Amino acid sequence: MVDHKPTRRTFLKRLTSVCALGVMASFNTSVAFAKQVGDALSRIKGTVIQKTDKFYEDWRQGMTWYVRKPKRYPQTMVLATSTEDVINAINYARENGLKVSIRSTGHSISASHLRDESVMIDLSQLREVSFDVENQTAWLQPGMRAQEFQELANAQGLAFPTAHTNVVGLGGFLLGGGLGWNLQKWDISCRSVIGAEIVTADGKLINVNENENPDLLWAIRGAGPGFFGIIVRYHVKMYPMPRAITKSAYILTEEHIPMAVSELEKLAKEKDINAEILGVLKHSADIPGMPKEGIAFIVMVIAFADSKAQAQQILAPFAASPIAEKAYLKKVDRPHTFPELFEGQLITDATAPDRTSIDNMWTDRLGEAVLKMVDILRESVSKRSFVITVWGVNPSKRTDTALPHFADDYMSYYALADKPEHTEPNYLWMDKIKATMDQGFSKGHYINETEFVRYPEHVKQCFTEEGWVRLGKLRSQYDPQGLFHTYIGYS
Ligand SMILES: Cc1cc2nc3c(=O)[nH]c(=O)nc-3n(C[C@H](O)[C@H](O)[C@H](O)COP(=O)(O)OP(=O)(O)OC[C@H]3O[C@@H](n4cnc5c(N)ncnc54)[C@H](O)[C@@H]3O)c2cc1C
Repeated sequence: MVDHKPTRRTFLKRLTSVCALGVMASFNTSVAFAKQVGDALSRIKGTVIQKTDKFYEDWRQGMTWYVRKPKRYPQTMVLATSTEDVINAINYARENGLKVSIRSTGHSISASHLRDESVMIDLSQLREVSFDVENQTAWLQPGMRAQEFQELANAQGLAFPTAHTNVVGLGGFLLGGGLGWNLQKWDISCRSVIGAEIVTADGKLINVNENENPDLLWAIRGAGPGFFGIIVRYHVKMYPMPRAITKSAYILTEEHIPMAVSELEKLAKEKDINAEILGVLKHSADIPGMPKEGIAFIVMVIAFADSKAQAQQILAPFAASPIAEKAYLKKVDRPHTFPELFEGQLITDATAPDRTSIDNMWTDRLGEAVLKMVDILRESVSKRSFVITVWGVNPSKRTDTALPHFADDYMSYYALADKPEHTEPNYLWMDKIKATMDQGFSKGHYINETEFVRYPEHVKQCFTEEGWVRLGKLRSQYDPQGLFHTYIGYS
């Protein structure tokens, strides 16, 4: 068993990234305050921030990764440093008639952790990891981020389908499903969750696995930001580290997009299971080296192979296709480490927090949808807005997960704002996409990348009817008093 605990340096770095201002001042105020209030709160070893504290607003804003900060104000914020802190915070909320909201790393587009008058429990400092290399499993806490977990795992010869962007935390990502690396072979990430430790509404720590509380195992595989408990530790299946990850990228000008789409439709059907195909639509002007006008299409194919020969075999059909022939720019057959894969995502502006909104759909008409999106993207408010498509996800049709199977392909759209005034026009642009995709393209939504505040009806459309009813029954059973906030738009 290999254990990793955050060092003092990384711990301090995290604190700084949560909020640059007032750490010590706020801590002192909070400790003093905590002594005057309920027992449960005074037992918390982590920082407690009350609405009346001097630096409350700095902390509150620091809890949300996006530049846009919703005007929702928790009563108390607890920066948990242990499972005991989580239990004490839950007990304090229950005993004082307050609801609980949860934050792992604060990347939710709806900022669903920020709720009025709640006790917001922040888990970002819970970052322990341990690997069982022989059995290819790991325990990890919800504050771990994609790249740091991947690098720790890679050092053990293991890998995991983390998010494609380095900073995204595993807490919310796994709970909502998780579209991670090597999507088809490793499946949607929550399907690698084999157990968990969960603190329930009555303040009890319970084990969840195939034998103990299996109904909760089903729920945490996809329930997303309406789950009725706090996961303080996930137990996950790991995968052998692919020894020859290799990537090819082709960038096409707008005139070649119809050809590329029809080629991808064929290539995705025949592709090797270890190939991941991502297609990104962007304004050409936003890509260095591309013409200043029109929409560009970036086709990235990643082979998660074990040898150079296997990688070349996986990538060869793409290199031999008209996509390669017509590409304006291309980089072919380049070996990659995971840190380099994360870096490659920057081209999508994936790490830009000035987004107004995100939405998505599962579809079996991806090619046609891409062609529709070319015209819609041309009208985007910011030239940095973009669209990501995933070809041939082919997720498994397992039924032991709250996450359903709606279709084999996936598309998500991102409205970026260059100035605050872009917010409302961006929403109107997103409304237009929604109206188009609702005309027979969308088969359902993915809960981690949809915005419930603008589109509350999307919450239910992330589940099957049966799954939605089952989640409701489990909520009544495990949280009969409604301690935990449910999905925004439903509370
Ligand atoms: C830059 C960027 C890149 C992304 N890339 C991907 C990607 O490649 N693939 C993908 O699938 N998604 C991706 N996402 C979406 C991402 O999966 C979600 O934003 C996810 O919620 C992030 O997890 P988090 O820990 O930050 O969640 P948070 O924002 O902290 O939490 C969201 C909600 O989830 C619930 N929750 C979180 N943790 C727990 C817990 N431990 N116990 C109980 N409930 C909990 C709570 O209701 C909480 O309000 C990306 C997002 C961003 C911003």
